[in-house]
Amino acid sequence: MFLITCPYCGPRDQSEFSNAGEAHIARPTNGEELSDEQWADFVFLRTNPKGLFAERWVHTAGCRRFFNMLRNTATDEILAVYRIGEPRPQVTTAGPVTPSGEAPIGSGNDAVKVMRPGEGTE
Ligand SMILES: [Zn+2]
Repeated sequence: MFLITCPYCGPRDQSEFSNAGEAHIARPTNGEELSDEQWADFVFLRTNPKGLFAERWVHTAGCRRFFNMLRNTATDEILAVYRIGEPRPQVTTAGPVTPSGEAPIGSGNDAVKVMRPGEGTE
């Protein structure tokens, strides 16, 4: 669990929110001209980076408003929260630092062994 700061309500527990996928996806304005492949790309294909990622979230158990978040998907570090329509903030984040390349915390995959500092260095 971690805290998410809703831009309308303030800090709340993660359980009050739902992830709504990648942010800044532009809806096609020429839908009748698109091929099946172009529609499939718009509807289904998203980037899935490990590291800095712009996401939409909704405060499901609160104000029910959507907003954007910049999050490091490897560490769950939240770098910025901003309202829909506001420009994406410029931020930087550090990459994973463990010897295996996995994030030290918050990998999102419970099957992955979490390495603590100094662990596995004998
Ligand atoms: Zn809210």
